[in-house]
Amino acid sequence: MRVLIVDDSKSIRMLVAECILTLGHEVIHMESGVDAIKYIKENSPDLIMMDVEMPGMNGFETTQKIREIKGDDWFPIIFLTTKVDDDSYTQGIRAGGDAYMEKPISPLRLQLQITAMERIYNTRQKLKQAQENLLEANRSLLHLSMFDQLTGLANRRNFDETLDREFKLAKREKKPMSVLLCDIDFFKIYNDSYGHQQGDQCLADVSLILSGACARPTDLACRYGGEEFTFILPNTDLQGATVFAEKVRAAVAALKIAHVGSKVADYVTLSVGGAVYQGQFKSGDEVTKAADDALYRAKEKGRNRVETA
Ligand code: GH3
Ligand code: MG
Ligand code: MG
Ligand code: MG
Repeated sequence: MRVLIVDDSKSIRMLVAECILTLGHEVIHMESGVDAIKYIKENSPDLIMMDVEMPGMNGFETTQKIREIKGDDWFPIIFLTTKVDDDSYTQGIRAGGDAYMEKPISPLRLQLQITAMERIYNTRQKLKQAQENLLEANRSLLHLSMFDQLTGLANRRNFDETLDREFKLAKREKKPMSVLLCDIDFFKIYNDSYGHQQGDQCLADVSLILSGACARPTDLACRYGGEEFTFILPNTDLQGATVFAEKVRAAVAALKIAHVGSKVADYVTLSVGGAVYQGQFKSGDEVTKAADDALYRAKEKGRNRVETA
């Protein structure tokens, strides 16, 4: 443990320090309440040995201040004092102290007291670790529930939630919002030609281009399902969406991922359908439906192209 000793008497600090060092702990000395508080603001010791009678700020006031600063970050504070009457004891515990030791100090009792506090410290460390593990597990669960594992893009659930939110925002702020639906051309044949594993690799490679295309922090690229992807582009009108879609289509084509079975190119291509909300739709779903109709037209017209509603 890192033990902070606060005492205006150097000889007492030395005596206490020796007891603590013998037990194998680390020691930091402060000779006043003010110095201790300054230290506490930047550091967290595991235990404090606090003198009560000090010039300026006494041990009770210092303790109270430390508890205020640290809030929920608790560590034991043990008072060292000559005042052992009931009133002083009450004041000490109320100020936030945890134990009370009488001066002159008995090194044996001091060491036993520290050993007892160490048990609490160890339990607390375990609790902290368990809490951190739990937080980490929650973070990774949240990520799993919102992102697609193969491509790292936002998943369908994320798309649905984001679209709902952005649609409402666009409606309230009377701003346009675009949705693009992208579908890899002849992907069934790609799997048939190269195998499912390489198909997965192709999806991952294409996804990198899609996520890289999102220049604004509010743009979202999603894996809608299978070989279908979507973009939600808030505050983007028809002209902006068309430029964006064409850029994405061209970038995927430029990857030149060989695709012998494709009937439109020698490499993997993307068809894109786009729709823009400008007050005419009642829900995000309606925007998606319009983008899907546009995608259908892009397929009909020969694939590897962009069509907008
Ligand atoms: P189109 O040009 O009309 O879009 O033809 P297509 O073959 O791409 O369309 P279709 O919907 O018939 O086939 C989509 C294929 O995508 C079917 C399936 O084998 C493949 N696919 C869907 N999800 C995955 C996946 O996670 N990994 C791989 N490797 N393939 C997938
Ligand atoms: Mg003193
Ligand atoms: Mg498809
Ligand atoms: Mg397809």
